[in-house]
Amino acid sequence: MLELEDAITTLLANTTETAEETCPISRSNKRIASVAVAAPMAIPPFNRSPLDGYAFMATDSVGATAENPKQLRVVTTIYAGDAYEGTIRSGEAAKIMTGAPIPAGCDCVIRQEDTNYKNDVVEIYEELTAFKNFCYAGEDINTGSTIITKNEKLNAIKVGVLASVGIAKVAVYKRVRVALLCTGSELADVGEPLAAGKIYNSNRYMIEARLKDLGAEVTVLENIVDDEEAVAAALVAVADSVDIIVTTGGVSVGERDIMPAAFEKMGATQLFWKVKIQPGTPVLAAKLRNVLLIGLSGNPFASLVNFELLVRPVIAHAAHDPSLNTTTATAIMANTFPKKTTKRRFVRAIYADGRVCLPDNHSGGSLYTMSVCNGLVEIAEGTKSLVAGDRVNVILL
Ligand code: AMP
Ligand code: MG
Repeated sequence: MLELEDAITTLLANTTETAEETCPISRSNKRIASVAVAAPMAIPPFNRSPLDGYAFMATDSVGATAENPKQLRVVTTIYAGDAYEGTIRSGEAAKIMTGAPIPAGCDCVIRQEDTNYKNDVVEIYEELTAFKNFCYAGEDINTGSTIITKNEKLNAIKVGVLASVGIAKVAVYKRVRVALLCTGSELADVGEPLAAGKIYNSNRYMIEARLKDLGAEVTVLENIVDDEEAVAAALVAVADSVDIIVTTGGVSVGERDIMPAAFEKMGATQLFWKVKIQPGTPVLAAKLRNVLLIGLSGNPFASLVNFELLVRPVIAHAAHDPSLNTTTATAIMANTFPKKTTKRRFVRAIYADGRVCLPDNHSGGSLYTMSVCNGLVEIAEGTKSLVAGDRVNVILL
């Protein structure tokens, strides 16, 4: 049986990182830039006014006071979007709106509220220094400067920055394509009536949602009964169009645990089967050409633990996005966990402000108590019990 770290190393060594593609910026949020981006233009593209007022030459306001105002002749009005070609001369001013280009011959702007205007003349009651209320061309972004670095994760603001310099498409890494198959003859899909002895397939929706949280492009395969031929055929059919295949169920050693045989039937090479963790010990991994196959436990909580510990690092690596990995924290136990731990164990927990609390129900089959948790406390093999005040490691999900 493999140690968790060795299983992760094996998986990462068999993970293919996604190639590049160009994508319209409107679909680039949360994607990873595959190439640095240089600004093709300056922002602002021209000297512009930050407010509504009057533009003129600061030297024309020398000596201006409330008692001794300076008068300037207003020769034009410039709105945002205008391109005024003329030059403002000494003794003149231009009425100017926020965002409009400051015309030639002006080096400052005074707020409209600080002036009086009558009959094409504006009165100024204070001295302005040169470049007062003056936004320089390029003061935000210089032409040629790097606005996106390689491997940077885009966000709404970065998308806005790209748009501000007129970039319509950006080079990013492709999303990771994942096929998901949940097997089990006992499973019914939501919306179907539940026959006696059957349960609803929760993994299919939970794992699909987690994969999408991580930015993957998910293909969900039809529910399949425990039949290795059928499973192998369904997986082979999708293998060429995905990077990773994730399955749940059928990896234990029961009679209907058909996943190892199904992977073999597909012609996949087994990488490992069983990892020294609890829950989710029987997790299975294999490789078929460039496709990585990971068979998670069927038990909903165990499948989640398998997913967070083993699938998540694979997606992060394939997607060139380390931020998708879990983070860990040390925390103080707020309550007691009285059980002896015979195998390295991951227990659901609620973490806040350096403290963790374990809920009463740890049953592998209970997904509901996990829904109020946000982490997994790691308990080392051989630990007799944990008591309040103990220091533990928490994986934050
Ligand atoms: P298995 O790993 O197939 O032996 O399944 C272990 C336990 O998890 C059994 O109680 C299954 O009924 C349950 N189980 C398996 N797959 C799912 C699923 N997709 N959704 C909900 N429960 C499941
Ligand atoms: Mg099963």
